[in-house]
Amino acid sequence: MRIILLGPPGSGKGTQAQLLVQRYGIVQLSTGEMLRAAVAAGTPVGLKAKEIMASGGLVPDEVVVGIISDRIDQPDAKNGFILDGFPRTVPQAEALDDLLRHKHLRLDAVIELRVNESALLNRVETRVAQMLERGEEVRVDDTPEVLTKRLASYRSQTEPLIHYYSERRKLSTIDGMMAIDEVTRAIHRQLLALGAVEPKTHGKTLARSAAKATSAKTGTKKAKAAKKAKKAAKKPTKTAKKAAKSAKSTKKAKKAKKAKKAAKKTAKKAVKKPAKKAVKKGSKKSPKKVTKKRAKR
Ligand code: AMP
Repeated sequence: MRIILLGPPGSGKGTQAQLLVQRYGIVQLSTGEMLRAAVAAGTPVGLKAKEIMASGGLVPDEVVVGIISDRIDQPDAKNGFILDGFPRTVPQAEALDDLLRHKHLRLDAVIELRVNESALLNRVETRVAQMLERGEEVRVDDTPEVLTKRLASYRSQTEPLIHYYSERRKLSTIDGMMAIDEVTRAIHRQLLALGAVEPKTHGKTLARSAAKATSAKTGTKKAKAAKKAKKAAKKPTKTAKKAAKSAKSTKKAKKAKKAKKAAKKTAKKAVKKPAKKAVKKGSKKSPKKVTKKRAKR
């Protein structure tokens, strides 16, 4: 399966791409990630891209087309891939059509995640806060100023792709404002309708991996609490310890009671014998009364 995820920064393309990777065993090809790796490694491509990326502009088409073409040829991409952040311009889309044709590969679908622009700034701010919380390095282009520029370049250079793929009957638009698992389910339904995936993939499993992704991404209090509860469940609680102790003491008490009963029985027997003797010796008192009296002592 080969699909493109289309959407502005903060629309959830990365999150959904990761879920689709888990679900369908295909690879995520994110030009943003590849460029960031090139910047970190200080490669010629990285040196070229560094400033452009930091300011929120777009890296030249030939650079990204080159890295995508090489990446598609890697063995792990044979099973299929999700393009995340590529193509971003009409010339990139045309170049992709060309290179897929040359490689005899077919594009199954283009999924557009449509989001409310006013929510994007909030989403990116949340992403930054969560990355900081996890101790991860924050992207230099995840600031309100750069985001505004990235949004502007999306509108002017990437949005025309909606028309491009719609004309070629490849476009499916999904409401990206829904919860993560709902978006995942909607994408899955769409891929099923297009015949891009087998119907065997189960909704529940999908929801579970989406939930996992949510907690992994957000590192929510809930996830932390669940982890703590799991750990605690393995340890015997104070109450459990108390219960075990009291069970032990109950056992002890029962044993003691049994011993007491046995002692009483022996005592009774011991008392009975001299009573019989007393009768024999001609005592007028009834053996029963004697027994009672002696037992009382
Ligand atoms: P992303 O992680 O997809 O948001 O990309 C981060 C930055 O990498 C973008 O703001 C661009 O500067 C650059 N970039 C990523 N993909 C492309 C692309 N297909 N074309 C041009 N620039 C790109």
